[in-house]
Amino acid sequence: MIYVYNTLSLKKEVFKPITTGKINMYVCGPTVYNYIHIGNARSAIAFDTVRRYFEYRGYEVNYVSNFTDVDDKIINRAQKEGISELAVANKYAEAFHEDTLPLNIKPATIRSRATEVIPDIIDFVKDLIGKGYAYESEGDVYFRAKKFKGYGILAHQDLAEMEANAAGRLNDDETVRKEDPVDFAVWKNEPREGVISWESPWGKGRPGWHIECSVMAQKYLSNTIDIHGGGIDLAFPHHTNEIAQSEARTGQKFVNYWMHNGFVNVNNEKMSKSLGNFTTLHDLLSTYDDPMVIRYLLSTTQYRRPINYENNTVEQARLELERIRTAYRNLLFRLDSSELGSDGKVEVIIEEQTKAFEQAMNDDFNTPNALAAIFELVSLANTYTKSNVVKRNSIQELLETISKLMSVFGIDGLDSHADLTTEQRELLDMRVKARQSHDFTKSDLLRNRLKEVGILVEDTPQGQRWYKA
Ligand SMILES: [Zn+2]
Repeated sequence: MIYVYNTLSLKKEVFKPITTGKINMYVCGPTVYNYIHIGNARSAIAFDTVRRYFEYRGYEVNYVSNFTDVDDKIINRAQKEGISELAVANKYAEAFHEDTLPLNIKPATIRSRATEVIPDIIDFVKDLIGKGYAYESEGDVYFRAKKFKGYGILAHQDLAEMEANAAGRLNDDETVRKEDPVDFAVWKNEPREGVISWESPWGKGRPGWHIECSVMAQKYLSNTIDIHGGGIDLAFPHHTNEIAQSEARTGQKFVNYWMHNGFVNVNNEKMSKSLGNFTTLHDLLSTYDDPMVIRYLLSTTQYRRPINYENNTVEQARLELERIRTAYRNLLFRLDSSELGSDGKVEVIIEEQTKAFEQAMNDDFNTPNALAAIFELVSLANTYTKSNVVKRNSIQELLETISKLMSVFGIDGLDSHADLTTEQRELLDMRVKARQSHDFTKSDLLRNRLKEVGILVEDTPQGQRWYKA
């Protein structure tokens, strides 16, 4: 059984999919007006890991996500740069794909943009007006929050708190057009020339932010979906408003499990542009040559907890990931010198630790405990590969298990030399050849050269082994 913490009930609940073996999940994507920051990256990694674990358990996962490609931030940026809103959105949507690819984040089954579903949004808004849940006011359309029974249930706030919150976010222009301050826009009037807009029954305008996710979840998945995910900052007002809109339209429960990931703090402070600690994934990837270290780092904390990011946590992550890769290489190295058959004891530990890994992941995706199980296998691999006699089946099973479990974290290719530079790789190859042709002077020179570039080599009866210094 898999337990999922549901923000709606504030409890871990047994996960039951609507359709056996299948999962419909929707995760809020970024507004494409800038490079994504490390907090967006964490959200993408957290839900990719959730998806991968469900897939590991044999589920078929339909994963839908969006790009918000029309909103004030995009319009402002387009005006500042003197280009179209579409050009801004295209640039940063492209950057999103370029930056998430090295992190091995699976592409969404469907990723839709707000501007691709405008007719569906207009139909949705028409329905809300028809049912009395929304009203037009000077070209804007607002949702009557108080008419929706249970408004704010996800935010765990009562109406008075929400009214106080709404007052804090008020924009005076809008307030005069609203029946009530807690109402929110589902459609916005756009009278300006040269600014992106669409014709609608309420005049020229564009969608409010919350409506696109309600529309896409219903259009691409279903009226009721299994999981909806996003950062905890989205619970109110974004997800609160999604529930109101969707359930007002369909009369059915919108989401069975609401999952929210925690923040990323930078040097123990909340990340913000004003503090100057705003870290984009794009910058991070250009600072560190191994993107898997970033993925590993953002996986080491359970998804609901805050992560503190500092340079030394990256270094710690690098060392830990290198320990796993080294153990994997040690196993591969001993494969050639292994004897046929199985060890027996090794298999028992593999089974125990695989169970421990699954128990941890079943417990609301407790990734640190799951990693602890992987490190037990790493220790086993390190001890076992030092034995005089090793059995082929046991080595194979260790390799397969470590690789399969790491793949749930999106970390593949443990055996590849992807983390080596071209120079390091070439020097290693040259040294193998030098030793094969008994040119020991050359092989010694190459050993020194490799040391200078951070690789230590060791000659064993089974051939050359290497480690990162
Ligand atoms: Zn959303």
